[in-house]
Amino acid sequence: MEVVVASALGMCFGVKDAIELAAGLAREGPVTILGALVHNPQVVADLAAAGASTAHGPDDLPAAAPVAGDRARVLVTAHGAAASLKARLAGRGFDVRDATCPLVDRAHRAAARLAAEGRHVVVVGRADHVEVRGLVGDLPDATVLESEADLERLAGRPRLGVLAQTTEALDRVLALVARIRERFPRADVAFADTVCQPTKDRQLAVAALVLQVDAVVVVGGPESNNTHKLVARVHALGRPAWRVGSAAELRPEWLRRCRRVGLTAGTSTPDAVIDEVRRALEALPACPAATLAPAPATEAAEAGAA
Ligand code: SF4
Repeated sequence: MEVVVASALGMCFGVKDAIELAAGLAREGPVTILGALVHNPQVVADLAAAGASTAHGPDDLPAAAPVAGDRARVLVTAHGAAASLKARLAGRGFDVRDATCPLVDRAHRAAARLAAEGRHVVVVGRADHVEVRGLVGDLPDATVLESEADLERLAGRPRLGVLAQTTEALDRVLALVARIRERFPRADVAFADTVCQPTKDRQLAVAALVLQVDAVVVVGGPESNNTHKLVARVHALGRPAWRVGSAAELRPEWLRRCRRVGLTAGTSTPDAVIDEVRRALEALPACPAATLAPAPATEAAEAGAA
């Protein structure tokens, strides 16, 4: 099988820096990571073996930190956390270390600025995602907009400030902002583009990839928001796509009608896992001539991508 690799894919600087920080802390002594640092079981297992264990959330930590300093260290992941949560943990005696990505920090600052302007803050993203919980956690009042179906929850708000989870697809965010303005023409709607550059780069690269291949495999964990957005982007552009967490999850029958397959990966996928999937794809037999219809023209496909 011929494999075409996306021009931008895989682990971003924010996740790499967070892993480096966790590994460095683990070398000094035990540390507890607050939630999934990276959506890869091997990396999590390696960190655990080195002394960096993972707690699902603040409720999994003891009510009060143990007296011994090193045992009380907790690390906030690249996804960030509400300042009020960090303060509560410090109040419980934990030594809070912070691996929040600077681009998540930028989204927190945008939310605070929009709220300070007297706007009702609207976050486009997944309500159950740790980053979004952090973004709204310090605001007295905010709405998480997952889809158009949530629009009516904004009724009666004269001033709105919209931002996005950093790993959202920008075109979807822009389409939702347009829908808000259409639905509430009298509202004063400000928008802060907080989608991070690595996410934009991967979304753009996968759109170019789709034009060269019969199908796309996206490598990333089931909890990874940007991985799901990459799969959705390929589908919207008219090609089949599958998400796998590792080479073991690949199913050869998916690709039996393919001659050339595209490969991309979410921002928390380690290079070693991408390489393993690439080698497994290359070992598959190629269909002598692809039988799939050509991908739709980019403009038409983009119009349908919202
Ligand atoms: S996906 Fe974007 S915001 Fe999240 S850690 Fe990576 S660079 Fe930072």
